[in-house]
Amino acid sequence: MARHTKVIDVVSDKVNSRRRRSIVVAPDPQVPNRAEPAGLTWDSNLSAHLDRAGKSRMQEAQRCALAIKIGQVQGNYHLQKAVYRQTESASQPSSTVPGLTNGQVSQVQANLTTNPQAAVNTIAKALADKGQVTLSYIEGNTIGYVGDRSRMRPGRYGDTSLTPGTGLPRPCRVIIGPDAVESVSTLYSTIMHEYQHVLQYRTGRTGEEAATELEAYLWEVENLEKTGMWRRVRAMAELPGQLTHWWEELSTNDERERYRTRYKAARETIRRLNERRLEEQSRQQRGRG
Ligand SMILES: [Zn+2]
Repeated sequence: MARHTKVIDVVSDKVNSRRRRSIVVAPDPQVPNRAEPAGLTWDSNLSAHLDRAGKSRMQEAQRCALAIKIGQVQGNYHLQKAVYRQTESASQPSSTVPGLTNGQVSQVQANLTTNPQAAVNTIAKALADKGQVTLSYIEGNTIGYVGDRSRMRPGRYGDTSLTPGTGLPRPCRVIIGPDAVESVSTLYSTIMHEYQHVLQYRTGRTGEEAATELEAYLWEVENLEKTGMWRRVRAMAELPGQLTHWWEELSTNDERERYRTRYKAARETIRRLNERRLEEQSRQQRGRG
């Protein structure tokens, strides 16, 4: 049982021959993270205090004041504990998208359909805070959401281009389209795919589409667990085709040699995670049946 509130002292003094009692109630300092859920001790504690108060011929008003005081302390305490628990869990890695925290995932989730730009910003900031993305490489320090499909090249989740001007390096314009906001995982993976292109532009690699796309898709496959994309059936169906396509587009054997190990490992990763997803699904179905 949680001893989360105690009457520390009852101070008596005489004022004009009437006894005035002030009761100091404070939360037990040891309890905060471990106490039982709210409500367990409310009735017994309160009635015990009130009984004691009644025996000492306290006035009704004073008894009410005491009840209110205890209520406040317990209420504040439980509220504090609830907020603490929520904050605690919000900073833990998400089980569905381990590259983000629970708090970030729920924030992105909440905005995905109603305010996609805010969803993009949340992920961009989270990745920038972790040092995985440098926003100053991107025009306006912002990855732009474009809801108009006609401004997106067909079949594209996002697009990265160099901003007009001369001299390198210069910022890239990164846009994210409607297909990318179908899930938190898809958005995260797309942002990082486009960011690979940003890094490629930084190093002046602009002409080799096959190699640059292969690299961006390799990032996505190598991070399927971190982004949670391995649970997305659509992504798992599309990624092998993308890998193969860009692999075959590589024009020279030298280029293939450069990526061969990663490419083979990526195909194996997809195979392994497909298996795991199917296992997880059949476990869930058995659980329901
Ligand atoms: Zn790309």
